[in-house]
Amino acid sequence: MEQVTILLTGGTILTMNDDLDVITNGALAIKDEKIVAMGPTEDITSRYQAQTTLDCSGQYILPGLVNAHTHVPMTLLRGMADDLRLDVWLMGYIMPVEREFVSPEFCQLGTRLACAEMIRAGVTSFADMYYFESDIARIVDEVGMRAMLCESILKFPTPDASTYEESLAYTQSFIEEWQGHPRITPTVAPHAPYSNTRETLEKSTALARDNNLPLMIHIAETQREVDDMKAERSMRVVNWVKEVGVLDVPIIAAHCVHIDEVEMRMLKASGASVAHCPSANLKLASGIAPVSQMLDLGLNVAIGTDGPASNNDLDMFEEMRLAALVAKVNPIDPTAVPAHTALTMATRNGAKALGLEGKVGVLASGMLADVIVIDAQTTHNTPHFDHNPQAVYSQLVYASKSHDVRHTICHGKFLMKDRQLTTLDEAAIAKEAAAFATEVGQFLSEREENTLSKLIAVGIDVERSESFEVQIKAILDDPSQIENLLSHEYVDVIRAVHYRQYDSYFIFNDAEGSRVRYREDDGIDSTGNVASVRMRLTYTSATKERAFHDTILLSHSRFIAPASHPLRFYEEYFKASEERQLQKERRRWHIHYQGTLFYVNLDRVTEPALDDLYIEIKARTWSQKDAENKADMIREMMAIIGVESTDVVHQDYLDMAKNEITG
Ligand SMILES: [Zn+2]
Repeated sequence: MEQVTILLTGGTILTMNDDLDVITNGALAIKDEKIVAMGPTEDITSRYQAQTTLDCSGQYILPGLVNAHTHVPMTLLRGMADDLRLDVWLMGYIMPVEREFVSPEFCQLGTRLACAEMIRAGVTSFADMYYFESDIARIVDEVGMRAMLCESILKFPTPDASTYEESLAYTQSFIEEWQGHPRITPTVAPHAPYSNTRETLEKSTALARDNNLPLMIHIAETQREVDDMKAERSMRVVNWVKEVGVLDVPIIAAHCVHIDEVEMRMLKASGASVAHCPSANLKLASGIAPVSQMLDLGLNVAIGTDGPASNNDLDMFEEMRLAALVAKVNPIDPTAVPAHTALTMATRNGAKALGLEGKVGVLASGMLADVIVIDAQTTHNTPHFDHNPQAVYSQLVYASKSHDVRHTICHGKFLMKDRQLTTLDEAAIAKEAAAFATEVGQFLSEREENTLSKLIAVGIDVERSESFEVQIKAILDDPSQIENLLSHEYVDVIRAVHYRQYDSYFIFNDAEGSRVRYREDDGIDSTGNVASVRMRLTYTSATKERAFHDTILLSHSRFIAPASHPLRFYEEYFKASEERQLQKERRRWHIHYQGTLFYVNLDRVTEPALDDLYIEIKARTWSQKDAENKADMIREMMAIIGVESTDVVHQDYLDMAKNEITG
C-alpha cells in the first residue's frame, strides 16, 4: 500500500476535464501538494492508505473555485455605501475613505477577512487588484490560499504611492520579492484605461512582459467609459489597449460589459481572459456582459466577484448562478450558458485566466491538489436524478449554496475541514473589523454633517477665496447709463468680458447656512458665440453683513473648486435640502477707479426671468477702514452712473427669483 496524505472516498467526483467526466462513488488520493490518483473508490483504497481519510458519500468532490477578479481588502468597506451610481459611489465614498484609511494594516485585516469568507465558500484561488499587495501576499502566504496579486497603477496618487513612478518601483520590488512562490503570482494591474495615461499603460505592460507575467485591468465596465474613449480617441476601449501594447501580455480583462465582436476577437487572439462579474455589473447597473457571444467565439471567460464593496460578498456560488441566469436575458435564450458551462468558467477557465492551466482547475492525477467537497444531501438539494448526467451540474449551479462546502483543500492542505477553518481566527478578525467600521463610520458621519468637508472630499483643488467684499447692487433703468462710468475721466477699463451663466444652487438647512453653487460659465465672444466653457463649484456659508449707508460689507467663507464631474454627480452626492436654478447674462468690467480695482457687473437674470436689469459694483477688502473707503468710492460711482439710492437692492438674485415665483 502506498502512503498518501489525504484520501477522499465514496464521493461524486466532477473532474471538470475536457470530457466533463463524472466518477460516481469515486476516490481521490493526495500526496503532499499533488493529486496522485483518482478513480473508483474500491480501486483507489486498495492501492493507497492515508494519514487522513474522509468518507465523502453523499458529497460532491470538485476543483477549488477560482475567483478571477476581486479587491480583497475592500471586505472592510462592505455595506459602507450602496445603491449609488458608480461615479458617486467610487469618487464620493470609496476613494475618500481609501485615501484616509488604507494602510498595510488595513490590507492585512481585509485580506484575512476575505480569505476566511472565500475558504468557507470553496474558493482556493483568486486574482486580486489593490494597494499594498506585498502585505496582502504575506497574509495569503500564511493562510495557504493560491493567488495572483496585482498591484494597482493609476495616474492619480494612491494610498501607497504619491506618484505612478513610485507605484511602478513598488511593483517591481513586490515582483522580485514574491516571484517563484509556489502559490503566489505577484504582478501589476494598470487599474483601467481611463485611470491611466498611455505612458503608465506602457510601463505597466513592460513590467509584466519583462517578468513573463500576466496582468489585470478593468475594461469597458460602463457605457460611459466607451463613449468617453470614442470622444477622446475615436476608438473603442480594447482597440486602445491593443494600440498601446497592453495585449502583448496575457491579460485578465475584468468586466468587458460593453465590448463588440471585433474587440472580443482581438482579446481572444492575444490570449486574454475575461473576468465576468455579474453581481457588480447588476448592482452598479453597468449592464450585462455578452458572455455567450464571447464563449461562442472561443474567448476564455472566467468569473469574479469583484470587490466586496460592490457585490457585497465573495460568494462564487452566487456568481456562477448569476452568470448562468443573466446570460439568458439579452439573447432571450434559456440554453445560453448552461450550468456545466458556468461551473467550467468558475473552475478551469478561472485557472487559465490566472496562468494556472494544467496546474489547477481540473481534477486529474498530477494536478495540484486544490479540491473542495460539497454536501449534496441538504434539503435544498433534494432529490437527485441519476439518470441525467447534466443533473449534477444543475444541482451545483442552481441549488447548492456556498455554506454547503464542507472541506476546502489548497496545495494539498486543509484550509477548512468539517466547516472549521484551520489557518484563520474568525472571531479575532470579526472583532478587529468591527472596531475599524466604527472608525470609518465616525469619519463619514462627521463629513456628512459638514457640506464643506464633503466638497473637499471630492474636490482635488479646492482653493480658499477672498473672505471680505464690499458691494452694492441696484436696478439700472437704462443700460446705456453704464457708459457714464466707463468713459469717466477717473476710470480705466482693464478688461471687458461677456458670460452666460447657468447656476445650480444646492441649499442646505445646516447651522453654517451652506450653499454650493455649480456654475457653467459660457464665455461669449464679440460675435455672440460661445468661445469658452468653464464649470466651477463654489461653497459659501452664511454671509455676515454690515451696511455702510447703501453699501454692504460681506464676510465670506468661500471655497472654489473646478467641477470635474457632471451636475448630476453633485446632485446625487450632496443630497441638498433644496436645489434651485438661475441663469443670467453677465457683462463684466474690471476697472480702476482712481487707481483702485473694482468689478462692475451688468446682469440680466433670464431664468427665472426678472424684469429689471441690475448693476453690481464690488471690490475685495481687508480692513474696516479700507471697506469704508471703498464703500464711499462705490457710492460715487453709482452717482456718476445716475443710480438713485431708492434703486438699491439688498437681496441676492436667488432670493429675488424666489420672490418672483412665489410672490
Ligand atoms: Zn474591480
